[in-house]
Amino acid sequence: MKTILLNNRPQGKPTTSNFEFVTEDTELTIKDGEILLEAAYVSVDPYLRGRMSDAKSYVPPFQLNEPVQSGVIAKVTATKNDNFKEGDYVSGLLNWQTQQVSNGDGLNKVDGTKAPLSAFLGILGMTGLTAYLGLNEIGKPKAGETIVVSGAAGAVGSVVGQIAKILGLNVIGIAGTDEKIDMLKSKFGFDAGINYNTNKDINAEIKKLAPNGVDIYFDNVGGPISDAVLFNINRFARIIICGAISVYNETETPKSVSVQPFLVKNSALMQGFIVSNYADKFPGAIKQLSEWLAEEKLTYTETIVNGFENIPTAFIDLFEGKNKGKMIVKI
Ligand code: NDP
Repeated sequence: MKTILLNNRPQGKPTTSNFEFVTEDTELTIKDGEILLEAAYVSVDPYLRGRMSDAKSYVPPFQLNEPVQSGVIAKVTATKNDNFKEGDYVSGLLNWQTQQVSNGDGLNKVDGTKAPLSAFLGILGMTGLTAYLGLNEIGKPKAGETIVVSGAAGAVGSVVGQIAKILGLNVIGIAGTDEKIDMLKSKFGFDAGINYNTNKDINAEIKKLAPNGVDIYFDNVGGPISDAVLFNINRFARIIICGAISVYNETETPKSVSVQPFLVKNSALMQGFIVSNYADKFPGAIKQLSEWLAEEKLTYTETIVNGFENIPTAFIDLFEGKNKGKMIVKI
């Protein structure tokens, strides 16, 4: 059995030395009420960076020398719990561990005949829910409006843009490479894209692409990219603060442009979004996402990295933009 522990807290950008691999020969056994799980797919997510630091947040930090956890799809390989049978697949927040014992609490069965198992970590999992609920609950999209999505080629952003298109919006995505911008337009149906690495004046580019202004901004990245978008908001704009990956590795308090005057004069709403606050809406959201997938109105892409030993690198690569769509490790 292999386990990945948090060895020390990252200072700035995470490195592989923040993690420690432990291999144990002992065979895991289960008691009444327990199941034995074998990891199949492990999700790596930018928000895990926050849990690796000990700053106060909405979820407690990972403890040093304890296993790191994230969304995992695992196979039940032995069971003494009537709710699970051998061969079932489950999803849940589990350890970065090849095998582990669970009492089943917090685990959901997933049906690999309905969608590929990895989809339950992305489009039919946490990132799909984030896109759907963040956009609908805070963004309140209306046909004909203009939305800008940052982190647009990632797991959340690529789904936000597609849902906005289904709902009849004009969609502009911001991402880090020309290849990603091409993908936004050709695969996901975005109307336009901005490569923030080559475009020196994002503010001017948004003015050009959205001459009537921006009604919704779905923010995955924060920092100067977001400032440039906020200079272009319309009256009653809605700004969903979903994430701020551009500042997760900052070691000093980031400098920010003061956007308050833009919010005031436009009567705009800016609200932080945490997907777990909307748990009562998950079943309805999954139903709608599944229907759109079946109707081929929605599609998705994944970057699948192979091998348990590559989990830390896959996680670190999120901060280099090496993924398109959902970053997942296949065990
Ligand atoms: P992504 O699949 O979008 O992966 C991260 C992407 O961020 C990279 O591919 C990269 O794309 C981009 N990125 C990395 N560094 C920077 C940077 N310095 N500036 C701008 N972009 C950068 O991850 P997710 O879809 O899983 O998550 C997207 C955001 O949503 C994150 O901020 C995450 O924390 C947040 N989130 C929030 C949730 C909530 O409940 N609030 C739930 C899930 C996610 P590129 O090549 O374009 O730079």
